[in-house]
Amino acid sequence: MLMSEKDFIIVGQGLVGSILALTLEKFNKSFIVVDCVNETSSSKVSAGILNPISFKRCINSWKANVLNPFSISFYKETNVKLQSNDFISLDVVRIFSSYEEQNIWHSKTGDNRYNLFLSSDFDLPKSNIVFPYGGGKVNSCGRLIVKDFLSSCFNYLNKKKAIIRVNSIQKAIPKINGNYCVQNYKAKHIIYCEGLDMLNNPIFNYLPIIPNKGELLKIKCAELPNVLLSKGIFVLPNNSKNNFTIGATYDHKDKSKFPTRSAKIELLKKFNKIGDFNIKIIDQTVGFRPTTVDRRPLVGEHPILKKSYVINGMGSKGVMMAPWLVNNLIRHIIFNEALEKEASIKRHEKKLKKENIDFASQLCVN
Ligand SMILES: Cc1cc2nc3c(=O)[nH]c(=O)nc-3n(C[C@H](O)[C@H](O)[C@H](O)COP(=O)(O)OP(=O)(O)OC[C@H]3O[C@@H](n4cnc5c(N)ncnc54)[C@H](O)[C@@H]3O)c2cc1C
Repeated sequence: MLMSEKDFIIVGQGLVGSILALTLEKFNKSFIVVDCVNETSSSKVSAGILNPISFKRCINSWKANVLNPFSISFYKETNVKLQSNDFISLDVVRIFSSYEEQNIWHSKTGDNRYNLFLSSDFDLPKSNIVFPYGGGKVNSCGRLIVKDFLSSCFNYLNKKKAIIRVNSIQKAIPKINGNYCVQNYKAKHIIYCEGLDMLNNPIFNYLPIIPNKGELLKIKCAELPNVLLSKGIFVLPNNSKNNFTIGATYDHKDKSKFPTRSAKIELLKKFNKIGDFNIKIIDQTVGFRPTTVDRRPLVGEHPILKKSYVINGMGSKGVMMAPWLVNNLIRHIIFNEALEKEASIKRHEKKLKKENIDFASQLCVN
């Protein structure tokens, strides 16, 4: 069979694989994306919020000063490239739950480390929202409508014949004479962007990735403002009028793919604390986030199988983290620049099992 030669094979066209393809193109590298469509993947369910603040402790999220501006300019450029409107800016208003939260917030707006993102001023149209302790605004937020972004990317890549869809996940991609081979494509480098399917990948499944179930409620409501409200949960305006998403729950124990009554009750209970609104529930959706115990992503080269890379573990901040981490990985591969240490999979090298090593050796054919 005549093999078409590429620089890279990308496995998976979720959020990460899509961003990787668009970034490789910027570096003038050729690639083929191989994806097994999964309608319930993390990316397909994602709320797509880009928010640089961790509300629990009212601090910047990990590397937010770097990741936030990088991702916003990436998505703005991508809107132009794909002739889409998948990334939109978003006003985010935090409703304080206590005087303590109010004090912490106000003290941080005077602190140079945080005041890039935190602001005390916010403006909301008159509504039934209850603000007993006031609120604040988060700057530099946005929303990627991830499902639409994946479709736009697919159409873009498909036109360039740079993507193939497969019916089942590819488990053992061989390395023949130094090239990874999929169907009639071969490439020196392969990058796995598999999300939770990495757990079924015999060479990378030593990496500790934990599925974290998240449930969302889709509602209709004519009384809510067109901003994201946050108080224990978020209330996110969707692109069609009067449609909102309430989310999300976090559960690392429940592995079932079905929506639960307990999640619905939890979300509605928290929603009712925001105010008294007439709502109609339209849908309840479920997905699993690819999380890690230390809340840091997983990026780097396989310790045995050279030129085989992974980028995963985006947790609940994939939209903000992925563009910069992808760029970091590509620059590492092409220019030998340093990988972000905290994200590097080197920290898990001791977890590599004999079966991972054996499988990696079996994949190499000379
Ligand atoms: C309820 C919920 C809400 C969320 N909200 C937000 C949010 O507001 N903001 C935010 O930033 N993040 C959010 N996230 C998290 C975010 O969606 C994820 O971090 C991100 O989508 C992960 O993308 P991924 O590309 O790594 O994986 P995935 O989305 O799982 O994509 C992997 C793709 O690769 C394919 N694949 C895997 N293995 C193979 C293989 N071997 N061969 C072929 N194809 C393969 C899969 O079929 C899939 O298409 C949320 C997640 C959930 C569940």
